[in-house]
Amino acid sequence: CTPGGPKVREENILVTVRMRPLNPKEVAAYDLVAWDITDEHTIVSKNLHHERHAGLYTFDKVFDPTCSTRKVYEEGARDVALSALSGINATIFAYGQTSSGKTFTMRGVAEQAIKDIYEHINFTPEREFVLKFSALEIYNENVVDLLNRESGSLRLLDDPERGTIVDKLIEEVVKDGQHLRHLISICEAQRQVGETALNDKSSRSHQIIRLVNILRPLKAVSEKTQGNLVDLAGSERATQSNTDGTRLKEGSHINRSLLTLTTVIRKLSGGKRSGHIPYRDSKLTRILQTSLGGNARTAIICTMSPALSHVDQSRNMLLFATSAK
Ligand code: ADP
Ligand code: MG
Repeated sequence: CTPGGPKVREENILVTVRMRPLNPKEVAAYDLVAWDITDEHTIVSKNLHHERHAGLYTFDKVFDPTCSTRKVYEEGARDVALSALSGINATIFAYGQTSSGKTFTMRGVAEQAIKDIYEHINFTPEREFVLKFSALEIYNENVVDLLNRESGSLRLLDDPERGTIVDKLIEEVVKDGQHLRHLISICEAQRQVGETALNDKSSRSHQIIRLVNILRPLKAVSEKTQGNLVDLAGSERATQSNTDGTRLKEGSHINRSLLTLTTVIRKLSGGKRSGHIPYRDSKLTRILQTSLGGNARTAIICTMSPALSHVDQSRNMLLFATSAK
């Protein structure tokens, strides 16, 4: 794994890339590694003829296939996660094509974040923390409560004070770290529902785990912030064209929430903060609006297959990640 190096910059949007190892199937098929990681910020294509940007892409941090999830968390997510405990809304995304390691990475990030959150709470006895957990899935622009699937498709309501709220979404008060792990495992099991009937469901659905933190400096007004952990649909759903460049006839290939999210992030990082940001164009961006842009902090962990067979999708991801910086 690349050496620790300097601390990542304190920016509102932190963009890192994690490359997974070749998987056993790719190894068995004699697939090749298409990219070099030349230092902890840089990815270079091994085939420079086919590349824009001179085949060179730089980020706040690049994690090679030997890096642990703990390291990815510490250098790509921790500061953003902990800001949600100190009054700043935060969102951590995993972005990448199907099978690139989004779910693998977000599970580890959640595990590390739980440890950190409870350590912070235990070392800050002068404040009282109340954590509330909720989790939802967005599939075909339908919002479903992962703690209560029976409630069906939930409506979004606009509250003048709180922004967009998900009507009837269950919020559980978290007792301790073990309870939080238990709630996450319930949601993982719920997310599997329908997976066999719709075998590409996980490539189409987004999962948001949300922790609302009600901070109470003793005997003072309480303050509410939220942290979101988001496992996105496969990034192949964000592009209009096939890997060979042909436009797809079938519109259902494109995921409205993912496409809108990439537009919102591009606009936020483009420095044109006064311009129109189309939060309202999708369920995902409406739900995340108060934790995206403005004073909120965002970490995007882009996950990537090293394989030559995935090179077009990897390049699409790298171009998005570059535009998000
Ligand atoms: P995605 O959610 O992006 O579709 P997954 O997280 O399910 O992808 O990962 C696909 C497979 O690759 C899983 O079997 C997972 O365990 C494995 N994998 C992903 N990232 C890594 C990694 N960094 N190291 C080892 N195995 C990984
Ligand atoms: Mg997944």
